[in-house]
Amino acid sequence: MENREMEQRLRQEARNLLEQGTVDCILGYEAGSLKFSTTPMITSNKDDTDRLVISPFIVNNLSASLTGMDGKIGIVAKGCDSRSIASLVQDNKVNRENIIILGVPCPGLIDVRKIELLLGRDRDELEDIAREGDKVTVTVGGKKSDLPTAKVLFDNCLACELPTPQEYDVILGESPPPVTDPEGSRAGIERLEAMSGEERWDFWRSEFSRCVRCYACRNVCPACFCQRCFVEETEPQWVPSAARWQDNLIFQVIRTIHVAGRCTDCGNCDRACPAHIPLRNLSKKMYDIVSELFDYRAGIDSGPVPLLTPYEASEAKD
Ligand code: SF4
Ligand code: SF4
Ligand code: SF4
Repeated sequence: MENREMEQRLRQEARNLLEQGTVDCILGYEAGSLKFSTTPMITSNKDDTDRLVISPFIVNNLSASLTGMDGKIGIVAKGCDSRSIASLVQDNKVNRENIIILGVPCPGLIDVRKIELLLGRDRDELEDIAREGDKVTVTVGGKKSDLPTAKVLFDNCLACELPTPQEYDVILGESPPPVTDPEGSRAGIERLEAMSGEERWDFWRSEFSRCVRCYACRNVCPACFCQRCFVEETEPQWVPSAARWQDNLIFQVIRTIHVAGRCTDCGNCDRACPAHIPLRNLSKKMYDIVSELFDYRAGIDSGPVPLLTPYEASEAKD
């Protein structure tokens, strides 16, 4: 089903939910102020539902907002977002009965930065981006260029394990044929794995020297839901607040460990970083470790309790 048809269906479903009083508000996406972008939209006004959009640019994982919201909420969710919701329900952070999931079967999101790099053009110069299956056609100055879809999707989408939500109340279309490239998706991690310890240390020193400690990575992450984050504790102060690279690195290492077993590889943290630090090299590595050690993928294999909560004395100590 085309985005346009899904969008029409979404607008109608959202309007019905508000009109019937089934939900207090709708959490979805509307067009952003930049070209080829969207921004989260929250509304309790049924007439606003005409502004809801579905496009290859609905990048935010909206479930990150659920823990701070009251009432009944209708939320637009792609496959990875629905996994985060399932994980939040498992953690008792969200009551499933208060959520109506409007599920979007997702063919992958387009990374406009990759297009800018491939074509050597700025976002503002791009006139149109149109996807048809495994081809994306970009128009610049009236001239069309075809790019393979696998070259312009976000890295996490290239390894997507659940494009269509398995947890939903309304599904807005049919499952799209996947375009995946698991090796391409892990290329950055494999480059790091091939380095010596010293080279890897230098790499992260250089990357985290750019961190400005804005906490965008934490704030957009649905798995980062502590009421008081360790990084803001003052007694004891685990991490000084000044943005020194060593402390920036410690912050991110601890954050990565804290979300182990909850991270769904949604890519939200990586996209949010204004310094373009490749955070997915940490989060996806941890995701793979959890998957390998425990045969567990958050929001897909979720049982009644979170992965790392129960402990048996008989468990291996290593
Ligand atoms: S990870 Fe999957 S569900 Fe999430 S945005 Fe990418 S393709 Fe869509
Ligand atoms: S989003 Fe980037 S710059 Fe901001 S705290 Fe996280 S790593 Fe640092
Ligand atoms: S750590 Fe990053 S990729 Fe993992 S759930 Fe949080 S925002 Fe998504």
